[in-house]
Amino acid sequence: MTSTETDSTPSSKPSLPIVENFSRRAAVKAGFATLGAGAFVAAISPLRQAAKNTSAAEFMQTHYTELSTEQKADVIARLEAETKEKYGADVTIGDDRPIPGTKFVYAINLSVCNGNGKCVEACHKENNHDRDTNQSYIRVIEMPKGTMDMEQGSTTYTGVVPKDDKFYLPVQCQQCDEPPCVDVCPVKATWKEEDGIVVVDYNWCIGCRYCEAACPYHARRFNWKKPEVPAAEVNPDQSYLSNRIRPVGVVEKCTYCLHRTRRGKLPACLEACPTGARVFGNILDKDSNIRWILENKRVYILKEELGTKPAFFYYFD
Ligand code: SF4
Ligand code: SF4
Repeated sequence: MTSTETDSTPSSKPSLPIVENFSRRAAVKAGFATLGAGAFVAAISPLRQAAKNTSAAEFMQTHYTELSTEQKADVIARLEAETKEKYGADVTIGDDRPIPGTKFVYAINLSVCNGNGKCVEACHKENNHDRDTNQSYIRVIEMPKGTMDMEQGSTTYTGVVPKDDKFYLPVQCQQCDEPPCVDVCPVKATWKEEDGIVVVDYNWCIGCRYCEAACPYHARRFNWKKPEVPAAEVNPDQSYLSNRIRPVGVVEKCTYCLHRTRRGKLPACLEACPTGARVFGNILDKDSNIRWILENKRVYILKEELGTKPAFFYYFD
C-alpha cells in the first residue's frame, strides 16, 4: 500500500485476444489462434462444464449493452422465472443504470476497523452467495503491523479481535479506473460503467477466468458449482448486473451493491459495519462525506505502483 501522493507508473497489460464484434464464436476462434488448441481448451473447460447448465435462450442472448429495452424486459422475465423454478423464490430483477453526475468512491478508516468480519457476512447474504462455500466479495486481511503489503497478511485468522500486534485490512473490488480485468476479457463480458462500477454480464461471460488472473487484488470469484441458497434466504431485491443468482461457470465480483447504491441506499457492507469504519458516496458531490475524507485525510490506495487507479481508499485517523 502506498500513498496517493506518489506518482504512479503504468501497468504492463497482458496480451490476449480481444474480440471486436462481441461474438463468442469469434472469441473461441481467436483463442485457438492465440493460445493454441490445447491451452485454449484447458482455459475454457469451465465453459464446457457450464454449457450443460445453460439454456438455449441464455446462450443465444445478445450482449447486455446491445439489448433493446424490450429485449431486456424479456431476459429479466426469463431470469425471474428461472429463479422461481430453480430456487423456489419470488424475486424482482431490476436493470439499474448509473445515475448521471455520479462517481462512486469507497474509503475505509483502518484505525477503526477491528476485524470483526460483519461486512463479509453482509456481502454473503446481500449478494445471494453460495451457502456451501460461504462465498463473499470481501476478504478482511489480518495484517502484521509494520508492513503495508497486503500479500503478507492472513485471511484465515481466528481468535479474539483485534489483536494488539495486528491491524485489519478489508479488501474487495477496488473499481479501478484502469482495470486490468476489463482489458483481458476476450469477449467484453466485463466493463466499467459511467459511475465507476466495473460490472460483468453473467450471461455473456464464457468463464475463461482471464480476468480473475489479471486482478491484482484477488477480487473476482469463479462459480465452480451451482450456487445453493435456501428459498427463505434468497434476497429478492436483485439487479441484472449485480446480485441476481449467478450461473455456474462464470466469474463474479463486487458491484458496490449497485442494486442498492443506484437506488439511493448504502452498500450492505457499510450498513453492517458496527464500528463506522466505512465511508461511501458520490465524489462529485462537494458536500459528501467521501469528498471530505479525500480532501482532508491522507489517503492510501493498494498497489499504486501497478497504475490501476482504484476508486477505493484507506486512511488512518
Ligand atoms: S479490483 Fe480487480 S476486479 Fe476490481 S476493477 Fe480492479 S482489477 Fe478489476
Ligand atoms: S468476464 Fe472474465 S471469465 Fe468472463 S469471459 Fe471475460 S475474462 Fe473470461
